[in-house]
Amino acid sequence: MRRIYLDHAATTPTHPEVVKAMLPYFTGAFGNPSSIYSYGQEARAVIEEARAKVAELIYARSEEIVFTSGGTEADNFALEGIAYANEHKGNHIITTSIEHHAVLEACKFLERRGFRITYLPVDGYGLVDPQAVKKAITTKTILISVMHANNEVGTIEPIGEISKIAREVGICFHTDAVQTVGHIPVNVDELGVDMLSVSAHKFYGPKGVGALYIRKGTRLVPFMHGGEQEKRRRAGTENVPAIVGFGRAAELARQEMSKEAERLTNLRDKLIKGLLEQIDHIRLNGHPTKRLPNNVNVSVDFVEGESMLLNLDLEGICASTGSACSSSSLEPSHVLLALGLSPEQAHGSLRFSLGKENTEEDMGRVLKVLPGIVAKLRAMSPLLKTPRTVKGGPPLNPPYLAKDDRKG
Ligand SMILES: *Cc1c(COP(=O)(O)O)cnc(C)c1O
Repeated sequence: MRRIYLDHAATTPTHPEVVKAMLPYFTGAFGNPSSIYSYGQEARAVIEEARAKVAELIYARSEEIVFTSGGTEADNFALEGIAYANEHKGNHIITTSIEHHAVLEACKFLERRGFRITYLPVDGYGLVDPQAVKKAITTKTILISVMHANNEVGTIEPIGEISKIAREVGICFHTDAVQTVGHIPVNVDELGVDMLSVSAHKFYGPKGVGALYIRKGTRLVPFMHGGEQEKRRRAGTENVPAIVGFGRAAELARQEMSKEAERLTNLRDKLIKGLLEQIDHIRLNGHPTKRLPNNVNVSVDFVEGESMLLNLDLEGICASTGSACSSSSLEPSHVLLALGLSPEQAHGSLRFSLGKENTEEDMGRVLKVLPGIVAKLRAMSPLLKTPRTVKGGPPLNPPYLAKDDRKG
């Protein structure tokens, strides 16, 4: 059976061209970039080439890119780096309730150390209201952090509007762009951000490498302490092969991104349409159009996400759910709850995130097997009861029919 991988928001396969670019730097050209002999200097040179490629992808300057161990470190560096650099000015940070855990947990850490965090709510589509950001600003606000696109429901936030508000009052603005860089156009000047987090493995690069874009003139307290690498902004011997792979992935993304986004949007919409047509008591989570080209997220009533995942896995299909048991936590997805879904609806969620290898045939396969899986699970479901509607959310689709509960 052919495996159909539909979990690209979790990670992507490393592009063969990326692997090829990385290989020489494990064995032959293994030098430490800080060494002054030619072996070391060769490594230094390829790091700088990679830095230029990553910078080019987001329309930044090379000096504004600091390599990190991934998106998580970039987020932690941004939040803690700004918090500790501005302690004397204030202690208030504004973020949203739908951020990745890398941002939320960094905020919680800072909260325990005396910082005050405002977690802004979102509407039923997962959109942050720029006016709510404006209202939350106080004289003590030192940082605003709002993600570019949400990793679970795919909603793309109005970053340009929010950054304008931050600029007007001179507050530093960070965005976690891990889900957008390499997938849709990201331009740090158009977005108006001071800091932006990137991760290589979300766009066909290797795992364990990422970057924080830091606009010239933005001062951060370093997160890692040690050597003088990355112009003293991030200590530790550079992961040369990974950085080279990251650069190659950025280069490939620049070439392939716009065509691929168009292709995926088409597949995405076909899958969404098919799912809404073929399964009753199902809703689309996230915004219908302000949405990542590769994200499909639905909630299916009266069934558990895990059960659907396991059954899909038996058919060779890899997806993900916002339900609790699939992860190590007990709570269902904080994102889906923030959108106004009930815990039951969050437990019945499925995320398909599409990528390079996926075809129209793959969408057809999902549409062929999922309705049967849902019907089978509902036949034995203890959850069957009147569905709830979502306050302020998109219309439920199709309308709930009391007589049709698809018991059989
Ligand atoms: C994956 C992800 C991260 C974490 O990146 P890693 O490189 O895996 O540490 C952060 N934010 C978002 C939105 C993500 O999707």
